[in-house]
Amino acid sequence: MSCTDKETCTCTPAGSLPVDGEASPGIEAGRRAFIKAGGAFATIALTPTVTLMSFGGGKANAAQESLDPKARWGLLIDVAKCGTGCSECVSACQKENGWQDTGHPETDAQWIRKVTVKNPKSGAVAELPVMCQHCDEPPCADVCPTGASFKRADGIVLVDKHLCIGCRYCMMACPYKARSFIHETLIDQKPYAPRGKGTVESCTMCVHRVDRGEIPACVESCNLTGGGAMMFGNLNDPQSEIAKRVAELTSTQLRPDLGVDPGVHYTYL
Ligand code: SF4
Ligand code: SF4
Repeated sequence: MSCTDKETCTCTPAGSLPVDGEASPGIEAGRRAFIKAGGAFATIALTPTVTLMSFGGGKANAAQESLDPKARWGLLIDVAKCGTGCSECVSACQKENGWQDTGHPETDAQWIRKVTVKNPKSGAVAELPVMCQHCDEPPCADVCPTGASFKRADGIVLVDKHLCIGCRYCMMACPYKARSFIHETLIDQKPYAPRGKGTVESCTMCVHRVDRGEIPACVESCNLTGGGAMMFGNLNDPQSEIAKRVAELTSTQLRPDLGVDPGVHYTYL
């Protein structure tokens, strides 16, 4: 694992196993033993409101301390302002989190993608960005056999790369096709956004930025050089701009009928 920045890394306890590259049988055996022990510990020690980050101790708890358990971080996206052909949000996410196209469009990572939708009645076409919807009832976490997929107390859904065994159950469970499996050997990872060959990943809502009190890279870029379509904030704070807008405007979540209560809302102004 190339998480070298122990000040900012929030992924796992120190001394955990590497996940980049091909694991040897010995490493695999150790990994399974670690997962078994860690999963049991998580099951016993963690409550639904305490994240897996808390069990690493030390620096891992630094991020936990900045976590607001009363918050529900979310996004509001105005599809009318999301320009056709604009992909500033995608580029910003790639640059921030260190993923890129590798020439394999069927399997390349897609933390965020532009999707074209068409109204079958009117024929109207629109483009919108789709990323992990940070569901309040995340099916990915429900099916994960190791506890690698989890939701933080502030609503951000993450994958603990050291617990992920690459079974991809979560990819099948996700109704938004928001997750990717890493096939390639990784180089030049961002220490604050650790990835691992053979594991699953998805949008982290730029959790490293959120924990510093900043907004996600896609939102920042959209507002600086894109269409100004994206807003980030605390949906649980009635005084926040995003909560006010969601309360006032007609907005929707993708497939609200599924009952997973996404933290990403869409509107058309
Ligand atoms: Fe999980 Fe998919 Fe929901 Fe994200 S959108 S929380 S990956 S089920
Ligand atoms: Fe959990 Fe998904 Fe990893 Fe399987 S692939 S262990 S479901 S995070």
